[in-house]
Amino acid sequence: MRQLPELFEANRRWSEQQKGRDPLYFERLCGLQRPKYLWIGCADSRVPANTIIGLEPGEVFVHRNIANLVNPDDTNCMAILQYAIDVLAVEHVIVCGHYGCGGIQAAMGPVLESPLEEWLSPLRQLVQQCGSDGEQTGTSNPSRAHWYTLCEKNVASQVAVLESLPVVRAARERGQTLSLHGWIYDLHDGLLRDLRAA
Ligand SMILES: [Zn+2]
Repeated sequence: MRQLPELFEANRRWSEQQKGRDPLYFERLCGLQRPKYLWIGCADSRVPANTIIGLEPGEVFVHRNIANLVNPDDTNCMAILQYAIDVLAVEHVIVCGHYGCGGIQAAMGPVLESPLEEWLSPLRQLVQQCGSDGEQTGTSNPSRAHWYTLCEKNVASQVAVLESLPVVRAARERGQTLSLHGWIYDLHDGLLRDLRAA
């Protein structure tokens, strides 16, 4: 017996709907993938890339992981970046974090079992740096404001990592159009904010 029938049923309805609106929809989508955007976002189920920026399949190349990290040691993320920039020639790379990120919260708390602990290690460093900057130092129960500030700082930190990557530098040196963006999403109102805009 087929498992999760409700999901297959929803899929069938969606496929019918798309074809109802545009009989050539899937045919065209098969032909070409040329998204202008690469989205690097959190794996959190409440932050689905296409939905919150209103884009259709084919319009955004997506990479998601816990706490939207760009780690040069992460082969998956590096391969995505290489493909997106060198082959798809995306014009924008968007790192999108969100307030209330569980990954950031975990990095503020007690040590966990690996692999989660290993994954969170760049965030532990960020949490430590922010503590030593004099913000909320010595707090055993970090405030929500501090947590949310760390969510923003994490985005800035990932954009800085992106800036330093050879794949990004090489694209710029050869004159390819490529902009990097740091955004944060608010679960409370569903709105995005550009952290790099004044
Ligand atoms: Zn998250």
